[in-house]
Amino acid sequence: CGIVGYVGARNATEVLIEGLRMLEYRGYDSAGISVFNNNTVKTVKSLGKIDRLEQKLEEIGPLPATCGIGHTRWATHGMPSDINAHPHATEKVSVVHNGIIENYLEIRKELMDKGISFVSQTDTESLARLIDSLYDGDPVAAIRGALARVKGAYALGMVFYDKKDVIYAVRKDNPLIVAQSEDAGEFFIASDIPAVLAYTKRYYVLEEGEIAVLAKGGVTFIAPDGSLLQKPLLTAAFTL
Ligand code: GLU
Repeated sequence: CGIVGYVGARNATEVLIEGLRMLEYRGYDSAGISVFNNNTVKTVKSLGKIDRLEQKLEEIGPLPATCGIGHTRWATHGMPSDINAHPHATEKVSVVHNGIIENYLEIRKELMDKGISFVSQTDTESLARLIDSLYDGDPVAAIRGALARVKGAYALGMVFYDKKDVIYAVRKDNPLIVAQSEDAGEFFIASDIPAVLAYTKRYYVLEEGEIAVLAKGGVTFIAPDGSLLQKPLLTAAFTL
């Protein structure tokens, strides 16, 4: 299972697919991406290998984009299927998740009682719909509010449709790094460094509960208490 995210001048769809291929060794049953395209966010996902996702993308036609998130899933809750594949896209937000949301049934029931409908059987959709229900223009507030409610392990990549070309990321008990190009014009998230090594060796370690906000102009880190953080930029010692 794996997560990738990209914002920069390259073709995001291609960078995401290449990144997901570098994470194939982690195992997966389905794959998908969400990219900002034509003032909306397009989500394409498929059961099976990344080749099948690529076939689907070819059928749809070119998806020019400079920002997006991608995922390979190793199903834990909900069988492997197109619908259960990530990203999980709601009206406002698209989410990729590695890990397990332990209290997802409770959250699901609570949201359904409020009239919110679900389309998948995953634990992740509960989190996506919870973030959506808390979102009122401030992604960090919605993410913090949702994470205060969930129990479990996660690495998350998120895009909010009205925050064009911005990626939000956070982790707890699942790996996730943030990387940036030498010229600081491109930013990445990834489960593991090999996913970005074709582009850069420069990365930040994201600690538990820290939120990263990646945009073309730079990356910002927010501590669990809400304050801004300065983090050291590291250099990966290994090569492909
Ligand atoms: N628990 C989530 C699911 O079953 C994420 C699985 C993963 O880590 O890929 O969809």
